[in-house]
Amino acid sequence: MTTTYQHRWMDGTPIDLPVGKAVCVGRNYAAHAQELGNDIPDSPLLFMKPASAFCHLDSPLTLPTGQGEVHHEIELVALIGEPLRQTDKDTARFAVAGYALGLDLTLRDVQNRLKQQGHPWERAKAFDGAAPLSGFIDARGISVRQQPKLTLSVNGELRQSGHTGLMLFPTFELIAHINQHFTLEPGDVVFTGTPAGVGALRSGDQLVMTLGNILTVHTSVA
Ligand code: ZN
Repeated sequence: MTTTYQHRWMDGTPIDLPVGKAVCVGRNYAAHAQELGNDIPDSPLLFMKPASAFCHLDSPLTLPTGQGEVHHEIELVALIGEPLRQTDKDTARFAVAGYALGLDLTLRDVQNRLKQQGHPWERAKAFDGAAPLSGFIDARGISVRQQPKLTLSVNGELRQSGHTGLMLFPTFELIAHINQHFTLEPGDVVFTGTPAGVGALRSGDQLVMTLGNILTVHTSVA
């Protein structure tokens, strides 16, 4: 896969920030933790995807083959615009440059095997193309306090739906938690977790993803 990914605004304009890492959280919506038979965590379950995992969500998605099911996880994604070290949630708020829709693509069968073996998840979560991102909306133009709803439909059928207000660790609190362990640099992104309804993607699937009435993204699986 050739990676020519660059963060960009919704209108396609490139964003003048480098492409960094993605820090992600597992089980940040109780209903999703339960659907996979997991306990609800008392601190965020963190993992990362490297810059090589990013791709543009509106281009047809290329999925890994021969490794079992690839699941969709729609997520609200925050773009970090300022260096953050040991921040608190009130400062974190001012470091977010924009918000996008992202898919935390997951090789679920691989992940289940890794979990059983007590191994790290990277092979299930960090592969090339594992982090498709839409264009970003300027953070000044959107209030996450209004808790916009995430929805994902596949071939016209609603699969995932959940208000961002259902997050166990809301966006700025999550960033502060992450920042106790990892420095965040301008151009890094934070995936904030997925609501219930994850499932397998197949070649030819048509996806529609929405963030409230703020963002609608169409894509397909190659
Ligand atoms: Zn996820």
